[in-house]
Amino acid sequence: GGSLDIYDRMKVLMEEKGIKVDVILQQETHEESVGIKKSGCHGFCEMGPLLRIEPSGLLYLKVKVDDCEEIIEKSILNDDVVERLVYHDKENKVFEKQDEIPFYKQQTRVALERCGQINAESIREYIAIGGYAAVEKALFEMTQEEIIDEVTKASLRGRGGGGFPTGRKWSQVQRQDSEVKYVVCNGDEGDPGAFMDRSMMEGDPHCVIEGMMIAGIATGANYGYIYVRAEYPLAVERLETAIEQAKRYGLLGENILGSDFSFDLQISQGAGAFVCGEGSALTASIEGHRGMPRVKPPRTVEKGLFEKPTVLNNVETYCNVPPIIVRGSEWYKTYGPENNHGTKAFALTGNVQNTGLIEVPMGTTLKEVIFDVGGGVKDGEFKAVQIGGPSGGCLCVTPTEDHLELPLDFDSLKKVGAMIGSGGLVVMNDKNCMVEVARFFMNFTQNESCGKCVPCREGTKRMLELLTDIVEGRGTLEHLQILEDLGNTISETALCGLGKTAASPVLSTLKYFRDEYIAHVVDKK
Ligand code: SF4
Repeated sequence: GGSLDIYDRMKVLMEEKGIKVDVILQQETHEESVGIKKSGCHGFCEMGPLLRIEPSGLLYLKVKVDDCEEIIEKSILNDDVVERLVYHDKENKVFEKQDEIPFYKQQTRVALERCGQINAESIREYIAIGGYAAVEKALFEMTQEEIIDEVTKASLRGRGGGGFPTGRKWSQVQRQDSEVKYVVCNGDEGDPGAFMDRSMMEGDPHCVIEGMMIAGIATGANYGYIYVRAEYPLAVERLETAIEQAKRYGLLGENILGSDFSFDLQISQGAGAFVCGEGSALTASIEGHRGMPRVKPPRTVEKGLFEKPTVLNNVETYCNVPPIIVRGSEWYKTYGPENNHGTKAFALTGNVQNTGLIEVPMGTTLKEVIFDVGGGVKDGEFKAVQIGGPSGGCLCVTPTEDHLELPLDFDSLKKVGAMIGSGGLVVMNDKNCMVEVARFFMNFTQNESCGKCVPCREGTKRMLELLTDIVEGRGTLEHLQILEDLGNTISETALCGLGKTAASPVLSTLKYFRDEYIAHVVDKK
């Protein structure tokens, strides 16, 4: 059974045992009842389904429906622990509480702080832990300039991959002389293996809304769209619930909290085309047109959605805004190196012990992420990590370059030809063939190419053919040269980000794992 089966079973069993169950967690009845709630993602995917007991903070892993009875007897009716369900590390050391488990202990959660902690369907819980206080502060205690200034001083940069300074973007929109402006949230997240934005929308939808509202207050925009891929039905459902609740609480609509500011928003569902994560394709899709990128300028900040000035940020970026407003840029700057402040969420997958959703300060090294948080490589030795999804590159350890010591931040990654992208981190062990990896990503981008411009439409197709030739034993050394030339040409000439970065996995593997390509073409393996 999944988490929901466990929730149902716990509820039924507790009632059978005469325990008063409180599903809406009313404070008044809290004393003599036991609350039970469905939270968002805790991040420890490898170990799910998870069950946390409050107030002790006990975390049970890989819980089965059949475990429920014992959990109730031991941990709800008594102060005891079900040993076999708590975390045991490789040396069989036992960690009972969530905060003590190395996977969590090494993390710093800002955007994900409430995911897995609160009931994602309850505005009351969100408000109870300080939710919407940032909107209140932004509305009544700050000018537009002060809000933008705070975000700028925090050096918050776009978490969707580009790393563009958020404060600068907002100030460009604020300066536009237009009656109508929009705030758009990119929740399209199409990278295979990435699920950070999804977890935030599912686990903490009010935070996304609050971040967007603050962008609206700061720039003078009164309407917002959240663009979510239709493959994320739970995110859509939770956001719809959150919007409806916020309206009921007077947090969306006319004269918010009695101020003269009005803000409303709606969800726009995308059909799952990777290219729709690109700004101009995304706005075209919301407008009802085919989701294709267009030539820039004009830029989105000047003429974005419906030709109006538009703030466009991704989910994670917006989720960083309320804590910056409430706690201030000085606090935010305690994380991460200069110009790359704050934290970043990553989806840690592949051959790693602890797969899951993590958040660490910018500048944390790859080694810390893979070995401390991730618990090390699974089923073999470390070989490489693919970072940034299909737009990113492969990093590795070679006699000349030790990428394990590389700090994960925008600027450090750029220097080695990689990027954070949306935050996918796929760990590979020594059994992975890097040519196959490159072909996998090229196959993905080729499928997702919208076909508008020739370099990407034709170029990715030829690159995929060359890679297939190599993998299937028809390759020659000349293939490698053509791959490199084509890759560089597409990067320089493609119209949008998808094409410009499509060759990254191929170019980086050619650089760091050339011997594997050569082995394929020489031995015709
Ligand atoms: Fe479309 Fe690719 Fe050109 Fe982007 S680079 S516009 S995805 S064909």
